[in-house]
Amino acid sequence: MQGFKSFADKIELEFGKGITAIVGPNGSGKSNVSDAIRWVMGEQSAKSLRGSKMEDVIFSGTQNRKPLGFAEVSIILDNSDRKLKIDFDTVTVTRRVHRSGEGEYFINKSPCRLKDIYELFMDTGIGREGYSVVGQGKIDEILSSKSEDRRHIFEEAAGISKYKYRKNEAEKKLAQTEENLLRIKDIVSELA
Ligand code: ATP
Repeated sequence: MQGFKSFADKIELEFGKGITAIVGPNGSGKSNVSDAIRWVMGEQSAKSLRGSKMEDVIFSGTQNRKPLGFAEVSIILDNSDRKLKIDFDTVTVTRRVHRSGEGEYFINKSPCRLKDIYELFMDTGIGREGYSVVGQGKIDEILSSKSEDRRHIFEEAAGISKYKYRKNEAEKKLAQTEENLLRIKDIVSELA
């Protein structure tokens, strides 16, 4: 990552197999690491990244350092087991945001849409809607949330989110087509 929150300079963090613990004094940037992971996987809520707008993730400067113009995070995943449905051994997902608010996404360095990242991670448990990053207060939220919201977590784990998503997309297309049909019928009856 580079220019993301407190990480002004480009840094690389390696997460091996098993557990990685991040320790450090209060305010040293531990949570910013997990924010970066959620952000690169498509998090859209600035609030859940502890900001008020998305540009708040860009390094805002310190007493002796000027603010930066953009933030960039890449996550490099080992995909030799093809858990992600893309035919590469390594998958690199990159997200960049500029002060203007303009954002960019890349999969293996090719520009893509947020939708592509969302679909890449769907039903894997990782990603924006995944359950692999459990933030502070998340457990409370899960326990106290409505049962429908809770069901979403089980649906992601069971791997059925993508079917629900596809159904939703298909329904949207269907509604659009019905609308078009109606318009055509109107034209036909006008001509008749
Ligand atoms: P705690 O142990 O208190 O939870 P932490 O180690 O998790 O702390 P973080 O919350 O990750 O710390 O980091 C907070 C620090 O990040 C603060 O010092 C804050 O000023 C800095 N920070 C957050 N956003 C930015 C930004 N856009 N630019 C520069 N610094 C930032």
